[in-house]
Amino acid sequence: MNAVTAVAALRAAYGPDEEQGAAVYGDVLDALAAADLHPYIETRGGLAVCALAEDGTVVVVASNGALPWSRSPLPGWHVSHVPEDEVRPPWRCLVLDTLLADVCCEPPGTLDLTLVTEAVRAHVACCPYAQRARTW
Ligand SMILES: [Zn+2]
Repeated sequence: MNAVTAVAALRAAYGPDEEQGAAVYGDVLDALAAADLHPYIETRGGLAVCALAEDGTVVVVASNGALPWSRSPLPGWHVSHVPEDEVRPPWRCLVLDTLLADVCCEPPGTLDLTLVTEAVRAHVACCPYAQRARTW
């Protein structure tokens, strides 16, 4: 098992909800793919865009809670990094939170996906937890 086959299996199991999420948040899926991850739509516990890193850890893109099903204006992106796709992960890194005011040089609430791509790429490359995480 690796990230490519794992995400292929997840995508093959998409139902109507996941298809809708992929249609609404295609640009977020693209941003995570641009960060060299393997993105997919997660609907358990609310809609989120997730992506597997090569080491099997998961980047989760949400907003102020789960993502809305229609692309009404969002207050920003909340991006976290967890060891696996589960409810109570043993660790969780905050990768980027544009709901807050302290993103460098950007106003709070920015939805610039370049920020997401850059933050995810930088974080996954040097995350202290991921280096101890399980590997495929
Ligand atoms: Zn991390």
